[in-house]
Amino acid sequence: MTVNFNDMKNMYDENICATYGRYPVAFVKGAGSRLWDSEGKEYVDFASGIGVNSVGHSHPKWVDAVCAQVGVLAHVSNLFYTEQGGLLAEKLTALSGTKKAFFCNSGAESVEGVIKTARKYSSDKYGANRHTIITLQGSFHGRTMAALTATGQDKFHKHFHPFVQGFRYVPPNDFAALEAEAKAGDVCAFMFEPIMGEGGVMPLDTDYLQKAAQLCEKNDWLLIADEVQTGVGRTGKWFGFQNHGIQPDAITFAKGIAGALPLGGFLLGDKLHTTLGAGDHGTTYGGNPICAAAALSVLEILEPVLPSVTEKGTYIREKILAMNLPCVKEIRGCGLMLGIKLDTITNTEAVSKLLAAGLVTLPAGIDILRFLPPLTISTEDIDAGLSIIKKTL
Ligand SMILES: *Cc1c(COP(=O)(O)O)cnc(C)c1O
Repeated sequence: MTVNFNDMKNMYDENICATYGRYPVAFVKGAGSRLWDSEGKEYVDFASGIGVNSVGHSHPKWVDAVCAQVGVLAHVSNLFYTEQGGLLAEKLTALSGTKKAFFCNSGAESVEGVIKTARKYSSDKYGANRHTIITLQGSFHGRTMAALTATGQDKFHKHFHPFVQGFRYVPPNDFAALEAEAKAGDVCAFMFEPIMGEGGVMPLDTDYLQKAAQLCEKNDWLLIADEVQTGVGRTGKWFGFQNHGIQPDAITFAKGIAGALPLGGFLLGDKLHTTLGAGDHGTTYGGNPICAAAALSVLEILEPVLPSVTEKGTYIREKILAMNLPCVKEIRGCGLMLGIKLDTITNTEAVSKLLAAGLVTLPAGIDILRFLPPLTISTEDIDAGLSIIKKTL
């Protein structure tokens, strides 16, 4: 290290917007599910950079794929064809049961894109004034204006009026409330996260989602799964909706798809795949060959790993319950997307204590300690993380 921690922190404090409360750690190296900080201390990673490092840090196949692509062709824009974009779209549509893909660079952009697609579908077919998107209270869909409006949490809405029009919010897992939205006659889509991530690792019930899907079908509302956090194997299936026997009309993805490079996008099924035409939507970087090559390697690495994701999640859940920790009230989630409802300690306190003890975790919602470990995490690394939890909490 040439720059010590305090100098690094001062550079941030003086030059970077204060939008984050950062933990007092600077990471300098990662390998697998381990991280090292500027002081040489080693950590177990149960956070994956918020679900991004799905194949862990510096996976050799991922590094090879990215390096090989960087040296050959890095970017040409979406005005041209590239092999990697085509191959990735072919894979993702097959894995999700959809017809077409669109690539962008982040989760929020993918949400913006499906909102535009849903509204165009509805206005093409029904004309004006049928544009409302129903989302869930406690949901999180991103920070850009429309995605932020879609986010059903008041605390994110405080300072940024006026918002985009045409969004309403219903409580999660309350079918009657969703059904009642039909009265106004202005709805074009229902958007949900299969497990509400940032809002507190809150899973939606299969029964609720199946009824919601039927209601959408009946009213020709588009069913949109925001899979930015739950997608790409996180819950033990390629996409979270696949745990519930439903098929959305549109699916967003981002976080884990390219294993650290910025890639997002959305997938469109039967109803929507012809909705967007030339000039209707675009992005300069979206799906460039480096990000697409990274994503292709992620999908290849994850294929044999996917069946173990559910087992690993169950293992973590059972081990933590067996610890009988007084601060653990409940464990929820699916696969390697787990939330511990805490008592007697706040989630930010728990994250700070665990970090000091060498385990990287995340807070979510008001009182949830969240785990999003790399999907490739080994049993030894899981056990190392669990022993830190037992010692610290
Ligand atoms: C993280 C997240 C987003 C926003 O993704 P960004 O890449 O931060 O823009 C949107 N939806 C869900 C469900 C997310 O978890």
